Amino acid sequence: MVLRQKRILVTGGAGFLGTHLCQKLLEDGHEILCVDNFFTGSRRNIEHLLDNKRFELLRHDVTFPLFIEVDEIYNLACPASPVHYQFDPVQTTKTSVLGAINMLGLAKRLKIPILQTSTSEVYGDPTVHPQPESYWGHVNPNGIRSCYDEGKRCAETLFFDYHRQHKLKIKVARIFNTYGPFMRLDDGRVVSNFIRQALLGEDITIFGDGSQTRSFCYVTDLIDGLVRLMNTPAEVTGPINIGNPGEFSILELAETVLALTGSRSSIIRLPLPADDPKQRCPDIASAQKFLGWQPNIALEEGLKRTIPFFENLLRGGPQSTAELRIASPLAV
Ligand code: NAD
Ligand code: UDP
Ligand code: UDP
Repeated sequence: MVLRQKRILVTGGAGFLGTHLCQKLLEDGHEILCVDNFFTGSRRNIEHLLDNKRFELLRHDVTFPLFIEVDEIYNLACPASPVHYQFDPVQTTKTSVLGAINMLGLAKRLKIPILQTSTSEVYGDPTVHPQPESYWGHVNPNGIRSCYDEGKRCAETLFFDYHRQHKLKIKVARIFNTYGPFMRLDDGRVVSNFIRQALLGEDITIFGDGSQTRSFCYVTDLIDGLVRLMNTPAEVTGPINIGNPGEFSILELAETVLALTGSRSSIIRLPLPADDPKQRCPDIASAQKFLGWQPNIALEEGLKRTIPFFENLLRGGPQSTAELRIASPLAV
């Protein structure tokens, strides 16, 4: 039961996080308009939601204006995996910047709240560890990651300028590496790569020596944080880090995936891509204070929930109904 049913726009709603967010908001009783151009997302992700009368799908590229009527916007549209955002870097910057302008323009016309999914990448290769929101970052403005990092930084600028100039109600979440079911087999990010490789008995590809660290958040924890942020009072704008402070080296991640899958894959080393951050860990004091939020699912538990989803995908069957049942009572 919801106190007030809202019409909610989720851009990038057919992607990894978008699928989970659409499910969660439907479960909470809202009407969802999912907007996606299917660059990295797919109809298949949200197929199980299409029969729901409160769910509507619109194929649209957010770099173009969008005139609709809704009560709230979650702006997720943007490829997030380095492989995919570097495939067409100009389009990545356009998506972040023009997408933000169009969605902010929409929010301004309708006088409605808008949440931006920003990223830990705004900290670049950080020299402060763990990263608090007050840290301005250490970012290469013209490297291969810049289309994403600087695009997201510019989007944050736009959000705060619309807030200051037009009194818009904004919420900015800085998301740290999140994983879980509904990632693509070819997503390219480290958790999905390692699980796929382990399950197929292929070599586990560690870039560099594997000593670089990341902090991995399970997707349901992350979605809970986003929804809490959207529902905070107007004065809470963020930016707020949302992530799991449990920090692991990439080698530790590989060993954990091998142990949990029982795989005999070998670990191989490949060159470290340019500008790859050496360490990353969120300071979540703000999330604890303003959202009463902290993650509940540790890496091993989250991997145990994610591996069956990939096993099912690799069997070529429909996406795991067991997992869908966990994720959403609406799904089956
Ligand atoms: P994803 O690539 O799975 O999803 C992105 C979605 O946006 C896809 O469905 C894609 O088709 C859609 N999209 C891309 N360009 C678009 C455009 N121009 N118009 C309309 N739709 C477009 O990635 P994700 O992990 O679900 O990430 C969602 C959001 O969260 C992104 O904005 C990302 O930057 C942010 N984020 C994610 C993480 C993470 O670890 N998953 C970390 C930091 C930030
Ligand atoms: N916009 C949109 N939907 C709307 C309102 C605006 O897509 O409902 C787009 C519009 O095309 C514009 C952008 O959002 O390019 C920014 O709008 P804003 O009103 O801030 O700027 P302006 O139109 O004055 O340039
Ligand atoms: N990585 C790796 N092997 C892979 C994919 C990624 O060793 O097959 C490393 C990558 O170099 C980085 C870390 O894992 O240090 C996280 O990479 P990912 O692409 O998941 O996210 P991001 O670098 O944006 O945090």
